[in-house]
Amino acid sequence: MKKSEDEWKVKLSPEQFRVLRQCGTEPPFTGKYVYHKEKGVYVCAGCGNELFSSDTKFDSGSGWPAYWNKVSDDSVELKIDTSNGMNRTEVLCKNCGGHLGHVFEDGHAPTGLRYCINSAVLDFVESE
Ligand code: FE
Repeated sequence: MKKSEDEWKVKLSPEQFRVLRQCGTEPPFTGKYVYHKEKGVYVCAGCGNELFSSDTKFDSGSGWPAYWNKVSDDSVELKIDTSNGMNRTEVLCKNCGGHLGHVFEDGHAPTGLRYCINSAVLDFVESE
């Protein structure tokens, strides 16, 4: 799925564009899904790809939504990110390539992972 950056600009809100297309980060404790606890699936705000299930969401205390697993192997792609003098692993949407956040190894059982994701790049689909 390929879109030009101009097409993305039309489709996304300014904040979504900044995070998804320009590797931005929303300020902690400001996103709409930080304390969200409904049952369902979080999908990519850019393309609708299923990313994370509410069953794997936990409160990391960091100010961003956190998950200990992805929905499937088609959900996300990982990339080494050495920007800002840090050694991190970037999480991207596997379908549209949009920046979602980072994954850390100080997470939650059973994987020990913490997918630290910006609320701005997520939409929520509630379960029946
Ligand atoms: Fe996407």
